[in-house]
Amino acid sequence: MSKISSRYTIIIDESKCIAAASCISVAMNTFSLNNRNVAQVTDENGDDAELILLAAQSCPTNAITLIDKKSGEYVWPLK
Ligand code: SF4
Repeated sequence: MSKISSRYTIIIDESKCIAAASCISVAMNTFSLNNRNVAQVTDENGDDAELILLAAQSCPTNAITLIDKKSGEYVWPLK
């Protein structure tokens, strides 16, 4: 499988994560739950950018922040 170059810096606010796991069901090659039942990034290059954005948008608590690596702009959550 060819590697997807990552577009986003992905930050997870552990204090907001309620382990709903919707991010994982959308982008299972990027996110997983760690042994404390908190989402973690397993591979920033795991899924394409559209899927990672959808995963962040699916989070019920907006625990996932995406920053565009090139521009430095905050992509999600919307301010
Ligand atoms: S969707 Fe949000 S709350 Fe659910 S596991 Fe992912 S980061 Fe945590």
